[in-house]
Amino acid sequence: MNTLDIICIGIAIAVAVAAAVVVLLYRQKVRKTVEKISMMLDKAIDGSFEESVFDESALSSVESKLARFLSISMSSSKNMLAEKDKIKRLISDIAHQTKTPITNILLYSQLLGEHELPENSTELVQALSSQAEKLNFLISALVNLSRLETGIITVSPGKEPVQKLLDEVREQIMPKADAKGVSVTIEDTGVNAYFDLKWTTEAMYNIVDNAVKYTRSGGSVRIKVIPYEMFCRIDITDNGIGIAEHEQSKIFTRFYRSPAVSNQEGVGIGLFLAREILDAEGGYIKVSSSPGSGSTFSVFLPMGE
Ligand code: ADP
Repeated sequence: MNTLDIICIGIAIAVAVAAAVVVLLYRQKVRKTVEKISMMLDKAIDGSFEESVFDESALSSVESKLARFLSISMSSSKNMLAEKDKIKRLISDIAHQTKTPITNILLYSQLLGEHELPENSTELVQALSSQAEKLNFLISALVNLSRLETGIITVSPGKEPVQKLLDEVREQIMPKADAKGVSVTIEDTGVNAYFDLKWTTEAMYNIVDNAVKYTRSGGSVRIKVIPYEMFCRIDITDNGIGIAEHEQSKIFTRFYRSPAVSNQEGVGIGLFLAREILDAEGGYIKVSSSPGSGSTFSVFLPMGE
């Protein structure tokens, strides 16, 4: 081996070592960048991300862009929460301020109705009190909703016999069902499930009330309990007007009412509230329906804690 060969081998070794060092440094840089990005994302996930914590000059261009993006989305989600809070407060203020005037309108129209009045005035008084009742219902539904959403009222589920829930619902719905001529059949059950009796009665009543309301006189509503391993399913089946497929997901949103029911009383909040209540206690609700033949609403209550 001559001197030239030795120099060549030396150069080759030096180049290989230099290349290995460059690769190692590059890998280290990539690892650091990934660690920093992951730290930023962790902070964003737990809501404590602040751009100032990360020194802009020390970040690569990808990290800086990510930092800016995260800080923009953090501030817009904070704004959204503040907006939501304002709306909730507004709803409860409106509810509070309108309570006394509505109660007075109801009272005065009732007093007026007790007087001897010309025939057309009696009709006007009846219209007045029915509109005031509708307003009263709407406001109290909004108050309930806002209390539930702000956590003023909490749903506290406990182990309860499902029969108790069915009995409460039967007691509340029978006068209305009898007056309309819709039969309500409830199958007895010995099953227990985890739910808040008061709130779940409200949710179930909203569903059963709809079943009676959207079923013609002479129709029927059946309530049946089917226990599964994880959930207790309660089916409320009517043979009423049914719900078009494209509307079946919309009916659970706030204020949605099908154009097919515009001639019926209602404000479009009952199913939204029912879903919120069931969600809060770990349950859920489903619907299957075919227009013209009827609907089945299935309520699922958890079987265990
Ligand atoms: P509301 O009954 O006051 O309009 P809900 O939130 O309780 O409000 O129901 C939303 C909509 O879902 C109703 O307006 C109606 O279009 C539809 N709906 C609910 N239950 C039934 C049912 N059993 N049969 C047919 N349509 C129904």
